[in-house]
Amino acid sequence: MWKIEDAIDLYGIERWGNGYFSFNKNGNLVIRPTRKDVHTIDIKNVIDHLSTKKIKFPVLFRFPQILEGQIKELNGAFNNSISEYKYNNRYQAIFPMKVNQRREVIEEIVRSGKKYNMGLEVGTKAELLAALSFELSPDALLICNGFKDDEYLKLALYATKLKNKVVIVIDEYSETGRLLELSRKLDIRPLIGIRAKLYSRGSGKWAESGGESSKFGLTTTEMLDCIRIIAQYEMLEQLQMLHFHIGSQITEIRRIQKAVKEAARVYAKIKQMHINVKYFNIGGGLGIDYDGSKTSSDASANYTIQEYANNVVYSLKEVCDEEDVPHPIVLSESGRAISAYHSLLVINIKGNKNGNRKKRVELRGNEPHIIKELYDGLNEINIKNYLEYYHDALQHRDELLSLFNMGEIELEEKSKGEILFLQICEKAAGFARETQNESDEFEDLNKLLSKKYIGNFSTFQSVPDFWAIKQLFPVVPISRATERPTEYATIVDITCDSDGEIDKFVDLKDVKELLEVHELNNGSYYLAILMLGAYQDTIGDYHNLLGTANEVHIIVADTGEWHIKQVIKGDRNCDVLGYAKYNSNSLFSMFESEVMQAQRDNRVSRQDAEEILDNYKAAMSQYTYMNL
Ligand SMILES: *Cc1c(COP(=O)(O)O)cnc(C)c1O
Repeated sequence: MWKIEDAIDLYGIERWGNGYFSFNKNGNLVIRPTRKDVHTIDIKNVIDHLSTKKIKFPVLFRFPQILEGQIKELNGAFNNSISEYKYNNRYQAIFPMKVNQRREVIEEIVRSGKKYNMGLEVGTKAELLAALSFELSPDALLICNGFKDDEYLKLALYATKLKNKVVIVIDEYSETGRLLELSRKLDIRPLIGIRAKLYSRGSGKWAESGGESSKFGLTTTEMLDCIRIIAQYEMLEQLQMLHFHIGSQITEIRRIQKAVKEAARVYAKIKQMHINVKYFNIGGGLGIDYDGSKTSSDASANYTIQEYANNVVYSLKEVCDEEDVPHPIVLSESGRAISAYHSLLVINIKGNKNGNRKKRVELRGNEPHIIKELYDGLNEINIKNYLEYYHDALQHRDELLSLFNMGEIELEEKSKGEILFLQICEKAAGFARETQNESDEFEDLNKLLSKKYIGNFSTFQSVPDFWAIKQLFPVVPISRATERPTEYATIVDITCDSDGEIDKFVDLKDVKELLEVHELNNGSYYLAILMLGAYQDTIGDYHNLLGTANEVHIIVADTGEWHIKQVIKGDRNCDVLGYAKYNSNSLFSMFESEVMQAQRDNRVSRQDAEEILDNYKAAMSQYTYMNL
């Protein structure tokens, strides 16, 4: 008997869900934005509601309360470590805007981060312009990283006049002179940070962001030169932050510990030069366990947020005490950890490729012997003999092919043989599942029998990191978890690009190449792609002119009732055409004159012409995805 616990285990949802996701007794995906049971949202209910509102799929769901939850967890973890290790200073979180610049997301982060003095970090002029629109608490920092031209520096310098704590980080040596010259010219004394290039590096996909050959940061020699120049400009007291960042999604805790220790030494030595560095900024890298394995595999991290905080605080304290320097304020720019969980995409499945195996094969009686063999095989296969019958079928299939190649079999018969063979395979695979036979030959068989479910979405727009770097994201059905999934599938999107296919899935032990899904019946079937809140929103692109998805933001009230806080319509066809520099009005005029000409030439009637034009006009403002 298949139980809901089996589905929870199969998809690993409670292992990677961090308390936010599960399946309920009805087999539906549920979200607990506050992690309290009373605040459980059944996604199927929301979807039914959206259908009555005529909101089309795919739909991106955001749960602002999950952002709040993660901010709370992160601050709580550091506060625990600080009291446990008697660390003599405080922690402040910074949200790096690169991870998700969306206004609604930043608004929520700023709102719920206020009581923790949470700040923002920017890496470009545009991000800085956006960040300047937010009201941070007086002690919160606005950190300016990235390569900076004079325009960027000037913007940041003027910002220091308005906001109390803007820190301009020297990420690259040549910025030093320009920053100091400009600040002298404008007579502005900014807070200055320097980014250290460490020998330590991260682990996982982003390991190259750290180490000696990293793109950013100052070598020891550059750092000393930089300090000398700052001193010449009599700005040493403004140098208040030491920053480093060894890459995102660091999978091994020991890498973090090593980097913190190395950077802590740098901090201590600078401090001993009587420079008033107050902030120790450990950058990003706090990893998320996308596959629930709690290991150092690429899609996971072998530590919790609490262990991360413990390691950072403990290592930093140890070095500071040894060097006899005061404990600095600890900052982390943990973007992924704050935002990854808060959004998910629900897609509807249009149908599947390789779907014609259900056809019943009837024998007329005069078929070649080989077809009869397969036919009998299909009728006689059972749980006791399936191994033998499967092996026989493999042989018969080969024989079928050679007979065809010798011209002894007609197409009609070849087709019958192929269908019978696949039906035997399906039965064998079913028996293998039932008997928990996990041998290699049945894994290969599952692949052969797997379906391609056509999902109404674009990988490039909504899950770009899967395409770009094969980053894994959990995928689960949003209902029917009470039924045993009987199909294996990959999910192809609706772009005309063969790369638009999700064919790697999270798994506890390994990476799955096929996802267990339910057979498509006549009703709709939906899948959710989860943990899309970090990086995916703006890395997504307009391949095939498929645009942003419709978006709904959902809040759950204290009573447990949910409501939609906001609906943001996805791109229409005219919007994406605009991105490609087409003007929808001129497109319409051109089309219109063509239709008029056709009417004059009597190729279309007046009535047809009107309908053709109305249809064109309507299409311009339709959603870019399939209307299913
Ligand atoms: C990208 C980046 C971050 C965010 O890293 P996460 O791993 O997402 O937390 C933080 N700081 C800097 C300087 C970055 O470039």
